[in-house]
Amino acid sequence: MNRITLNNVTKVFNQGRPNEYAAVRGVSLTIEPNRVTCLKGPSGSGKSTLLSMIGCLSRPTSGRILLGEQMISGLPERFLTDIRRHTFGFIFQQFNLISGLSVLENVILPAYPLAPDHRSLMKSAHELLERFELGHKAESPVQWLSGGEAQRAAICRALINDPQILIADEPTANLDTKLSHAFMGQIAQLRKLGKTILITSHDPVVFDSPVVDSVVELQDGAVLQEAVDAA
Ligand code: ADP
Ligand code: MG
Repeated sequence: MNRITLNNVTKVFNQGRPNEYAAVRGVSLTIEPNRVTCLKGPSGSGKSTLLSMIGCLSRPTSGRILLGEQMISGLPERFLTDIRRHTFGFIFQQFNLISGLSVLENVILPAYPLAPDHRSLMKSAHELLERFELGHKAESPVQWLSGGEAQRAAICRALINDPQILIADEPTANLDTKLSHAFMGQIAQLRKLGKTILITSHDPVVFDSPVVDSVVELQDGAVLQEAVDAA
C-alpha cells in the first residue's frame, strides 16, 4: 500500500506568457493509504489541478510527487498512462457517463485499454453493479438513470480496474443532500475495502463527514492548514 507524497509541487499554466498563472504553489503534503482525505477549498483554489497531477493526468511544473517510493512526477507520458490505469479510479463532478451507452458498457470502458479477459471483466462488472444495487439496470442506457443511480454507476466505473486509489473531484456538487450523504456512505464502504480515497469538495456534507480522516485546506493554490482527526 502506497502513501502519496507531494514535495513543493507547483503548477504554472501558460508559463512565460502574459496570462501566466500559478494554480498550485509549493504544495507539500502526505496522503496516507487506506484513508479518506478531503481537499477542501473555494472554487479556483487549485483543487482539480492538484488532483490531476496526483492522478497522473498532468505533470507538475516543479516539485515532486511520489507514489510509495516511486517518483511519478517526472515520468514520460507512456509510463504515466500505465500507472494511471492500474492505480487510480476517477469520479468526476458531472460523472461523465457516456450517453447512448448502457450502464454496463460505461462501467467496463476504463478496462478496455488493459485488454482483460472478457469473461472475468464481465464477472467483475456484474459483481460491482450488484454491490451498488444496479444489477437490474445493467442494460439501461445511462441517460435513463436517476441522479443516485448515475452516481453509483460512476463509482462502479471508477472501480472496474480495482484501483488502489480512488479520486473524486467534487462528487456531490450536483447531488441533493440525501444523495450526498449516500455517497459518503459508499465512500465508507470503499474505505473498509482498503481503498485510499482522495476527494475534493467545498461541500460540508463531505468535509464534515465522519468518514473523512483528514482535511487539507487549500487557498489560492497553497495549503492553508491540515486538520487530521485522531483516527
Ligand atoms: P478548483 O478545482 O479549486 O476550482 P482549479 O484547479 O480548477 O480550481 O483551478 C485553479 C486556477 O487555475 C483557476 O484560477 C483556474 O482558472 C486556473 N486554471 C485551471 N486550469 C487551467 C488551464 N488549463 N489554463 C489556465 N488556467 C487554468
Ligand atoms: Mg475543480
